[in-house]
Order: sequence, then C-alpha cells, then structure tokens
Amino acid sequence: MYCSTEGEWLVPIGKCLCDIGHESRGVTCQVCRPGFYKSSPGNLRCSKCPPHSHAHLEGSAHCSCEKNFFRSETDPTSMACTRPPSSPRNVISIINETSVILDWGWPADSGGRKDVTFNVVCKRCSAGKRQCEACRGAVRFLPRPTGLSNTTVTVADLLAHTNYTFEIEALNGVSPLAPAHRQFTAVTITTNQAAPSPVTVIRKDRTSRNSISLSWLEPERPNGIILDYEVKFYEKQEQETSYTILRAKGTNVTLNGLKPDTVYLLQIRARTAAGYGASSRKFEFETSPDSFSISGENSQVMLIAISSAVAIILLSVVVYLLLGSRFCGYSKSKHPDEKRLPFGNGHLRLPGIQTYVDPHTYEDPSQAIHEFARELDASCIAIDKVVGAGEFGEVCSGRLKQPSKKETSVAIKTLKAGYTETQRRDFLSEASIMGQFDHPNIIRLEGVVTRSKPVMIVTEYMENGSLDSFLRRHDAQFTVIQLVGMLRGIASGMKYLSDMGYVHRDLAARNILVNSNLVCKVSDFGLSRVLEDDPEAAYTTRGGKIPIRWTAPEAIAYRKFTSASDAWSYGIVVWEVMSYGERPYWEMSNQDVIKAVDEGYRLPPPMDCPATLYQLMLDCWQKERNNRPKFDQIVSILDKLIRNPGSLKIIANAPSRENMLLDRTGADITTFRSMRDWLESMQTLPCKDIFNGATYSSCNTLAKTSAEIYLAEVRPAATCPEWEPAMGITTL
Ligand code: AMP
Repeated sequence: MYCSTEGEWLVPIGKCLCDIGHESRGVTCQVCRPGFYKSSPGNLRCSKCPPHSHAHLEGSAHCSCEKNFFRSETDPTSMACTRPPSSPRNVISIINETSVILDWGWPADSGGRKDVTFNVVCKRCSAGKRQCEACRGAVRFLPRPTGLSNTTVTVADLLAHTNYTFEIEALNGVSPLAPAHRQFTAVTITTNQAAPSPVTVIRKDRTSRNSISLSWLEPERPNGIILDYEVKFYEKQEQETSYTILRAKGTNVTLNGLKPDTVYLLQIRARTAAGYGASSRKFEFETSPDSFSISGENSQVMLIAISSAVAIILLSVVVYLLLGSRFCGYSKSKHPDEKRLPFGNGHLRLPGIQTYVDPHTYEDPSQAIHEFARELDASCIAIDKVVGAGEFGEVCSGRLKQPSKKETSVAIKTLKAGYTETQRRDFLSEASIMGQFDHPNIIRLEGVVTRSKPVMIVTEYMENGSLDSFLRRHDAQFTVIQLVGMLRGIASGMKYLSDMGYVHRDLAARNILVNSNLVCKVSDFGLSRVLEDDPEAAYTTRGGKIPIRWTAPEAIAYRKFTSASDAWSYGIVVWEVMSYGERPYWEMSNQDVIKAVDEGYRLPPPMDCPATLYQLMLDCWQKERNNRPKFDQIVSILDKLIRNPGSLKIIANAPSRENMLLDRTGADITTFRSMRDWLESMQTLPCKDIFNGATYSSCNTLAKTSAEIYLAEVRPAATCPEWEPAMGITTL
C-alpha cells in the first residue's frame, strides 16, 4: 500500500514492488547486500557498486565514492566514480614576436571521463623577483582562454621582452568538486622583441605653399624605445611611382620643397631595435594655393626647400648614373634629425638590416671575438658535469652567476690543453659567429673566457641535448603538432640565419639542441666544423669533407653552398624528425646515396607522416635549387599547418617494401610550375598509371583531396610534385 498526497491509502493494482535498497526474491523483498545498491523501487535486482564506489551497509540506495573520487550532479548512480584529470603533458611554446602558440599533450589520466577541457591562465612575471600578476585585459586568446577542447591556444598582444607564465589546467566534470587539486602544467616564456604598432594619429599643424608641418602620437604599442620615424610622402597623382622619405627623431616633421596647391599622401612608421613597425594608413594633405602670400619665414623655408630639392635632384642623378637607379645616397635636410632619401621607381632598400660578418675577414681574430662576444670572469662559472664531447674538448653543464644577475644554467665548451694557435682561433670562431645572432631559435652565446685557462665558450643550457638522440629516446611519444612546432622553430632560426646572410652548411638533427620546453635551437657554428668536427662528414672526390646525406647535390658536386642548399638539408631534418631520429638513407653507402639522389630517387615518407609535410620535404629536395622553398615560405607553411591541424590528417603512405627510395624520374617535375599545372596534367593521364596502389578510386577524387591538402595555399610557389606511383594516400 502507498500513501497518496491527499493522505489516502492507495491499493496498488497488480503486484507489490520492492522498495529502493531491496530486491525481490520469490514473493518477498530482501535488502541489498553490502557492495550492492538499488536506487529506484521495482523488481530489479540490486546492482554491484560501480568502480571506485562502495556501499558498506546493507539496503543501500546508492554507493558512495571512494576517497578522491567523485560523482557530478548529472552523473547517473550507475556510473563509476571519477576524479579530475592529471595535468597536461609536454607543453611546447612557439614564440613569434609578441604572440605565443601553446600546444600540449593530453593528460596521462583523464580521470575516467571523456569531458576533459583545458583552461589557460596567463601571468606576467617580473624577471628577477619571481613575482607574477594576472595578465591585463589587452592579451588575446584564440580561440578563448577557458573551456578549450583542443590542445592548443594562441595568445596574442603580449608585451615585448617580457616574462610570462602560462598555467595550462586540465579539467573534467568532477574538477569543481576537488578545487584544492588544480592539475596544471606551467610554462614560462620570454616574448621576443617586436616591431612597434602603427602610428594612428597624425595632425596637420601648419601649411604653406611649399611646406606642411605635421605632428603625431607615438604608436599605442611601441614595444621598445623608438629610435626614429620614417615619413614617406608623394604627390597623390604620382601614384607612389616616386616618393621621398624623411627620418625624424621626434614626433613632428616639416615637409619642405612641396608644390603649391598639390595633394600629398603620407605614411609614417616607427623603428625600434626590432626593426620597422607597420606603416600607418595613408593620410592626405594639401599645400596652399599659389596666390597664398609668402611670409618672411615661408620664403626662408622655400629657399632651403629649393636648395635641398636641387641638392637632392643632383645627388639622385649622380647616384642614378652610378648605380643604375637602385640605390640612393643621403642628403641632409633642414631638420638636423632628418635624413632625406628621394627614390624613383618605388624601389627601396632600407638600411638597418643586420648582416653576418665572417670573423676570418678580421686580420686579428682576437679582435673579432671581442667585438662579438662578452669576456666572462672564470670565477662566475661553476662546472657541474660533462654532458658531451666536442671536437676541441669536453662540453659540460654548469651555472653562470654574473654580478647583479640571477644565476642561469649554461653549457660550457672547453678547449683542451695543448692546443695550437690555429685550434684556438677555430674554437673561438664559433663564439664570434654565435655572438652575432640574437634569435629564440638560435643557441644564445653568454660569453667567452679567453684571458684565463681553460679557454671556454659559454652558451645557454639545452636540457634535452641534441635533437636526433632526443627523438630516438622518445620514439612515437609526440603529437604531430608538437613535431611541427619543433620544425617551425628550426625553420624560424634558419630564416633568421639566411636573412643575416649566413649559410650553415651542416644543418642536421644532431646539430639542433632542444630545451626543457621542447624549443629547438640551431647550433654548431664555426667555419672549420663542417670539415673537421662532424663525424658524418666524408671526403669528396674534389677534396674537403661534406655530410653527404644532408647536403644538396650542387654543394656536393661543386661546393655551391647557399641558403637553398641549407633548405635541402632542412628537408632531411624534417624527415629525421618525422621518423624520430632514423638515419637518412639507412645503411646505404655515401657513394650509393650520391648516385641514387642524382638519378632522381628521394627518401620515402616516414611512417604516419602527414602528406603536407612529405610534400614540403620533396619541395626542399628539388634538384633545381631556385625551386626549393625559401625559409620564410617554410615558416609560413608550417604556421598554416599549425593553425589548421586538420591539414595534417592525410597521411602519405610509405611504399610497402621498407627502406625503398622513391623514384622521382617517372615525370619531369620541372614541367609543373604550379599546383594547378600538376593537377591539370594528372587529368590528362590514365589514372591507374599515375596512382597505381593509391587508395583513391578516381583521379578526380585524388585531385580534389590533394588540393585540400594544400589548404589555402599551404604550398609555396615552387614547382609541383609528381606523386609517386609507389606512394598511397589514405585519409584518417
Ligand atoms: P658540439 O661540440 O656543439 O657538437 O656539442 C657536443 C655535444 O654536447 C652535443 O651533441 C650535445 O649533446 C652537448 N651540448 C652542446 N651544447 C650544448 C648545450 N648548449 N646544452 C646542452 N648540451 C649541449
């Protein structure tokens, strides 16, 4: 009998039901045994407590969760008790000026739930004091800072040269029930220098027939000390075919020598140590009409303007004659802080781009070392242990404590006793080269010890050592995005080196170092190293030692080492990374490698390698070096892949027989100038001939899917590939 809400006895129609905590046994109801429960009335049997829960008493309506396990309000009683996830793993940060891409691995333990999300907390930390405060509002998170279901986020609009700590927290449906146990991994980064933001406010102060005085506000984000401003102006009707550039130290300028009653367009951009920022939008100004009376001051201005204009024209003519109009000289303008550069044809190469200086061009090598490297006091260095062996001596880890700076971990390369003067010079040449570089993906030189013995080169310490052995130790442990992040770092370092005019000649995974944040940095500089230091280097028939497997054919054949030959080596590094440190061309002899590459064979795609990355490798291994991608193109290709992780899902399958090189001689790759050419050419060929063994059933499907691989021009403007007959493509 049940009691109704009106207080009447209701006679159940049909048969009796057992109450909660009871199950029916024949005609009676019996209490559930300990370890069992029943949460609703009915004739069902008691259920065993789900995992991580217990019922100590008999007759239980539900089971209680074990310690540190929980059940959220919406979890059914039949569901196992769960716990918050463990922290995210292997966080990598890819810093690009004032933004950072954070990428991490899924927690080892999801707590038994599928609803794992991530929150990212940004903290700004002062360098020495180890104090952090929450990042202020201006910082942007893409797609958002909380409730992330993917394992990546981009944080933009950070301040330049600033330390930030990001706490990446993993959460699931029961995390709010255990607030004391936040499961996060923290990563600390320092943003790079960044160019200033554009000037947005420009004001006209005064106009005359021949001049305009302007002033403007500093950019909203100067990102450093503004060294000067570049003011570019031209007559509106000239359509920018000829323009004039002024440099101003302050935030105002007077444009002299203008035509009366003429409309001018003007753009301003600020410069810091990081280079020029983006130009402002075009502002329009008009000089006064001819009839405008000329004041004493104006006539003086005009005289100066005319004389400077004449000087400029004369100078331009002379320089034009001398240099075929490509370069122009400076002439002083009225303003002492301004330098005036008139240009024709819109061609302009601005000064300020740093280039690499070969230390061997110095008559006295010790002058080079002291120009580019800081002398350290040996008493500031504490050596801890030996971590490697270099050509000139041991490589140790240790600590550097300089006055009024915090202690840092360093690597210390030592020059072994009994060295010759040439060995000392060659050893220190690495520091003279490294000291000229300042980039987050190039190993940073702290300084040298040359005034006491042993002679030492001190660099930042890279906890995970060289990339090849690091990958072999962690076979198949990273996500594709993490591997692409590492490759992006290497490409960014190489872009910097090629912009500086430095050709590395020995780019290989063994010469990349990895720190604790998985940031990869290019190392191993020095002029003798390719010849002497690298165990992979072999003597060629023309003399000299070359690391054959990593080197472009033209560099092996006639020593044509360029940034394009570095791009070939970069393709080999991509292959090494995607195959977790496999040896390129396995145990083939150097002679066989040279012959195979010359005959058009190329390494096959490593296992599980995304088709887009394999395509990048093939592009880097173009025989014609001008068709290989430049490092800036490689960086932007990898950036696009990181932003569109879906583009990495199509896998380039290796041929079934392992260790087989791909024959690229079947089609003349140089005949395809673009992706479109390639796809069109495919339509004209019988499908089965081109894609024998591919998973696709029709050319059209393949053409479409291949085009999707390229995702909004992922591929650089180089020649197009032929897809190898032996290579199949499968979608995930
Ligand atoms: P190298 O003479 O530059 O080829 O260095 C020899 C070995 O020392 C490398 O393979 C690394 O294992 C180690 N090593 C060199 N530089 C560093 C560094 N900055 N941090 C950590 N290990 C390093």
